Amino acid sequence: MRPFVLQRDEYRCRNRINGQVCGRRANQVDHIGDRMDHRPEMLQALCRDCHATKSSQQGNAARWAERTTRPPERHPGLI
Ligand SMILES: [Zn+2]
Repeated sequence: MRPFVLQRDEYRCRNRINGQVCGRRANQVDHIGDRMDHRPEMLQALCRDCHATKSSQQGNAARWAERTTRPPERHPGLI
């Protein structure tokens, strides 16, 4: 799935910073919405810097949200 998303996004970072697309060379793939949603349209290419920034922010938020709003769910496994 990763190579597909990177090719679709032309190996450019899709992250928006203050309304501007980052556009640097991307080698990472990130979930736009639900982490369990692996559809290609729910994934985007990111450069390393943006991915590190986003995952540190989202990771904390997601962990907190999961703990407070949802019971633990099992991972659906490899698709
Ligand atoms: Zn970027």
